Amino acid sequence: MTGGLEGYDAVAEANAQKSVLAIHWSRICERLKVEVGEVEYRTWLRQITVGPVDEDEITLYLPTRFLRDWVRGQYGDRLGTLWNAEVPAIRRVELQVARPDAAPAEPAGEDAPTPDIPVAHARPPALAAAPAPVEEPRQAEVRSDLAAPLDPRFTFDTFVVGKPNEFAYACARRVAERPSSPGFNPLFLYGGVGLGKTHLMHAIGAELLREGRVSVAYMSAEKFMYRFIAAIRSQSTMEFKEQLRSVDVLMIDDLQFLIGKDNTQEEFFHTFNALVDAGRQIVVSADKSPSDLSGLEDRLRTRLGCGMVADIHATTFELRISILEAKATASGVMVPAKVLEFLAHKITSNVRELEGALNRLIAHANLFGRPVTLEATQDVLHDILKAHDRRVTIEEIQRKVAEHWNIRLTDMSSARRARAVARPRQVAMYLAKQLTSRSLPEIGRKFGNRDHTTVMHAVSRVTELMEQDPAFAEDVELLRRMLES
Ligand code: ADP
Ligand code: MG
Repeated sequence: MTGGLEGYDAVAEANAQKSVLAIHWSRICERLKVEVGEVEYRTWLRQITVGPVDEDEITLYLPTRFLRDWVRGQYGDRLGTLWNAEVPAIRRVELQVARPDAAPAEPAGEDAPTPDIPVAHARPPALAAAPAPVEEPRQAEVRSDLAAPLDPRFTFDTFVVGKPNEFAYACARRVAERPSSPGFNPLFLYGGVGLGKTHLMHAIGAELLREGRVSVAYMSAEKFMYRFIAAIRSQSTMEFKEQLRSVDVLMIDDLQFLIGKDNTQEEFFHTFNALVDAGRQIVVSADKSPSDLSGLEDRLRTRLGCGMVADIHATTFELRISILEAKATASGVMVPAKVLEFLAHKITSNVRELEGALNRLIAHANLFGRPVTLEATQDVLHDILKAHDRRVTIEEIQRKVAEHWNIRLTDMSSARRARAVARPRQVAMYLAKQLTSRSLPEIGRKFGNRDHTTVMHAVSRVTELMEQDPAFAEDVELLRRMLES
């Protein structure tokens, strides 16, 4: 279609070009979806509309400056390459801002200066004071000009509630139902990485928007800082402040990022006060409680702790199982309970890693059409599991085995010979031999000063039983995998 971009009369050319470009664009979109994933695609790229081609340059429109700058920074080059591959005559992509409802042929305004970092970096300050900014519609909606879009997966419905997070969840729900209630403003959520802080914040945003009542701005503290610095550079701090102070709900994620960034903290402090005084809601997250965020100005810490402070604790085994069950069910892939238990035992660090492991299993199952088994899990997650591995001690083995068969830990070293006790003890000895570098006499000593021949006997007996009894073999395998390093 290289030559098709020239040689028509004006109207015919425009129409022909439009429909041909649309075909190319839909093909590019398909590729982009595969490359960046459905969520990224929907968040950033779906809103692109195709404009005209002028010589070797195609214009693409995005509805807001923020989206335009983000897409330009993250996907600009890739878009150029993909267009060039489709239509060799196109060598450059120009991204412009246009209202979504405006005809693409009439972009709403020229390259306005933007207080956003991806462009602020690239743009010399001299250019920054250039033409009038694009008027953006002020609606009851997420301020995509101001903030990062919300991840549609992060809702209250998809958040699995358990002991470690039930309080934070309840507070988040409460704020979403009745923003700016006394006692809940600000809402300060804190906890370690990957435990659901961002998820809860997005869920608050999604809920408020569903109700269509307010304008919501969500951004990371890092982005807040970049935007603030960019606004200073482009001499648009007033505009930046006004924008921020015009939202009903402001959510700032990962506030710990502002430690040591005094000017940005100062700005945040003023924004914070202005909003709270005006009866708007603030939601903040951090990795520590306000009082533990040393390096944050005292007066800011004090104000942050004035509303509701809710922590998210490390996950428990039960919560990990519930989360895995929910996510496996949502995926439609059948994952056996044994596999879920295994993952919940092995990956205890945080939900993000747990989810990552399960997603990989599911992708694998979908790709190869094979059922998920413990074996396959071990294989597919080899690297992840290795990273979570640690050295196993005989004490741990004894504890796990005792738990598994519901006997007392002391029975591992007692003289009792009843089968219900002796068999698990033998398994523990077998596993100690398999998983540790201890010698037979050393192992014997840990099991109530037994002789090394007793350990030897246990090892061969368990090996024998595993060959005869597949259910028993599976039990032992499961234990081994849980403990293995
Ligand atoms: P944080 O912001 O605390 O570092 P995130 O909110 O980004 O953590 O959570 C990491 C991942 O784990 C996300 O994909 C999130 O959806 C998921 N996640 C965390 N907690 C839960 C939960 N209780 N239920 C369901 N998914 C969760
Ligand atoms: Mg987060």
